[in-house]
Amino acid sequence: MYDVLRSRYTFACPTRGETHVALSSFRRLSRLPGAAHPAVFEVRFECSCGEEHVGLVADDDLDWAPLGLAGGTFLNLMTSTFDALADALAEVSAQRIKAGEWPWSFFCYPEERPRPVFPSSFSLLAPGEVAVGLAVHCPVCTRVSVNLVSPEHIDLPFHNDPHVGVVEHVFQADLPSTLEEFRAELYGASFDARRVGLE
Ligand SMILES: [Zn+2]
Ligand SMILES: [Zn+2]
Repeated sequence: MYDVLRSRYTFACPTRGETHVALSSFRRLSRLPGAAHPAVFEVRFECSCGEEHVGLVADDDLDWAPLGLAGGTFLNLMTSTFDALADALAEVSAQRIKAGEWPWSFFCYPEERPRPVFPSSFSLLAPGEVAVGLAVHCPVCTRVSVNLVSPEHIDLPFHNDPHVGVVEHVFQADLPSTLEEFRAELYGASFDARRVGLE
């Protein structure tokens, strides 16, 4: 499902059979009702074939696999070299988390402060000319903020942009329900954004 070496998720593509997708190529994540362990997310993603497809990802794969911490079948399927690499990655990730670093962060606009987050809290991703508009459900206050970040900020755990754009709008029920509306509002100058530090 997740390839640690390439930082890519594997999905089915109707044209190519299989495709490898970075987290920043996800466009919409919706948690499916029902199963809690693991929770399953429906992911709409942009494929290298030019189309958008839908795939399913378990929360473990979404949040822990990029850190090498998903365990279980994920590691058992790998060769011994991959095992060693994933083990080393898992150890480094665990050390950094213990030291107070968090793999992903965003700026919560209603709370006016940076917050740690997992990819399972991402909701909509709309790339613009210079940055990716990322809507995040805050795990603490449950409200939605939209940040403008680099693809690396999303794809590489522990890589945080020193500054991110924050859209000055409190989203609640009015977060556009479709990616198209979100894209149109975000880049149609309906909102102001300012730059804030994440440190
Ligand atoms: Zn495709
Ligand atoms: Zn918050």
